[in-house]
This record gives sequence, C-alpha cells and structure tokens, in this order.
Amino acid sequence: MLWKRKIIYVIAIVYLIIMMDHVMAKDDRLARLSSYFTRSREYYERYEEVLPPVIIYEGTEAVAEVEEEIEEDEGQGDVVIGSEAVIEDAPLPPVINITQWELQQIYKSEKKIAYFTFDDGPSLLVTPYILDILREENIKATFFIVGKSAQQHPEMIKRIYEEGHMLANHTYTHNYANIYKSTDKLIQELVETEELIQEILGLEYPLRLMRFPGGSFGDKASFKRAVNENDFIYLDWNSLNGDAEGLAMTEERLMQRFTSTAAKSDPLVILMHDTDTKSINIKLLPEMIKYLRDDGYIFDSLQEFVKGNE
Ligand SMILES: [Zn+2]
Repeated sequence: MLWKRKIIYVIAIVYLIIMMDHVMAKDDRLARLSSYFTRSREYYERYEEVLPPVIIYEGTEAVAEVEEEIEEDEGQGDVVIGSEAVIEDAPLPPVINITQWELQQIYKSEKKIAYFTFDDGPSLLVTPYILDILREENIKATFFIVGKSAQQHPEMIKRIYEEGHMLANHTYTHNYANIYKSTDKLIQELVETEELIQEILGLEYPLRLMRFPGGSFGDKASFKRAVNENDFIYLDWNSLNGDAEGLAMTEERLMQRFTSTAAKSDPLVILMHDTDTKSINIKLLPEMIKYLRDDGYIFDSLQEFVKGNE
C-alpha cells in the first residue's frame, strides 16, 4: 500500500503550498491596509494643529465658539484667532476621531436634534437643489456618497464640502452583489472611495465615517467587525421619509411616513436620498424642515457631534 501513502504525501504538500500562498497574500493585504491607516493617523495628528474653532449651527445663527480673544481682520473681515486666520463660514474638516461606541451615543441624547443625511449621490439633478435649500435654511447635513457617482461629478463633491457639509463613505459601487461578497471586497471599496474623495478635495486625511448600503441591519456581524477593524465607523438612521420605498410616492405619503418615524425618538438621524430619481425630496425637504422647527428641533451636523465627542 505504498502508493496510497505517496498520494497522501502529495496531497499534504499541495495543501501546504496553497495555504502558505493564502497566508502570504493575506499578510500582504493587511500590511497594505495597515500602512494606509497608519498614514491616516499621522494626518489626523498633523491636521489637529490647524483645526478651526468649533462652529455651532443653531437655527439660523452660526456661532463661533472661541476661547482665545478674537480680533477682526479689517482687510478681509475674517475672524482671526491667535496666529490662525479662520473664515467664519469655512468648511468644517471631515476629520473624525471617535470610536464606534461613541458614535452610537448620538441616539442617547435627550435633546431634540435633527441630523439630515443624504445617501447615494451626488447627482446633478437633485444634489444642487438640496444644497440650495440647506444653505437657505442654514443647515449642515451629511452626504454619504457613492464613489462611482463622485467620480462622475467631482464638482458636486467640492460644492458639498465647500458649503460646510460633511462627506462620508457609502462604498464605490453600491452594488450589493459586489460589496457583500466578502469583507475584503467591502473594505476595498471603502478604501477606494476614501482615496478618491481625498484626491478630489486635495485632503490629506480620511473621512472614516461610512454607511452600509441597506444599513447595518441583518446578518452583517462580520462586515461590521471588518469595518471597525479597518478604522471606519458606521452610522445607520432612525428616521426616514420612505423615499427609497417606491418610485410612485406622493408628497403626502412621504410626509406621513416621515412624521411617524420622527415621533419615535428625540435625536433624529434622518435618511434621505439625493439621486436623480429622488427629485420629490426637493419639494419635501423644506416641509420637513418646517415641521421639525415647529416641533422644537434644532439642526446639527454630524461633524459637530463627532467633534464634540473627540
Ligand atoms: Zn444607499
């Protein structure tokens, strides 16, 4: 039975070779990702030194909270703090340095705060109008953007950023078959989108915040773990107007859906979409804002929340 033993030896050797190859490939990928995020952390540290003062948007007033004395720069009308010149309405940096647990505390507040979030953009038909409304109402929102769309409309990414909103990651393709094929695929798309946004904006630090297409609900334990292990944090929502629940939605129906979800908790993370097919949101957004203001809500950007928790 010597030949049987030989076959077992051959199989064992082939198996060992395959396993070694697999381990080496994984090590290489991990080394690449880890160097990427070590680089990111260095950027945080470097960026920390030039952070502008915390700006709190409340109602229609933008209030600059500064500890040092503020001197007026006559020439530019800018606010000067110490040696750093800061324009009051300068875009807030999307640097966030908080943990997943800290981010989850957003739902724990007893204050009536509403955070608008827009997913799946940017688009040319809807995003500009949403931005106009937000500017008019002096509200800062968060845009969970799809890398592929960002590549098509980099000018919209710039505008979102320049108008002080927060940019966050919603994968590169938004294609469930691709992103949920494996944790590696998901992380690869997140990293690709991060790098693209940084390139468009000339930023040298990561966004870190992501939202799972379809939310983190269901059987995504391994994906959630992979996201956190790779230094990303994720956020779902607790309020929506149902704009993704069918194309033939009426304003009344969506408003009803929104008010019913808004009644359930005080801090609201509101999910909306700004893709080309969601032009109904251009009509709905002012109505939703009015409803929330009448109900005593103040608006805040996620940027302010995460800065307050750093
Ligand atoms: Zn989405």
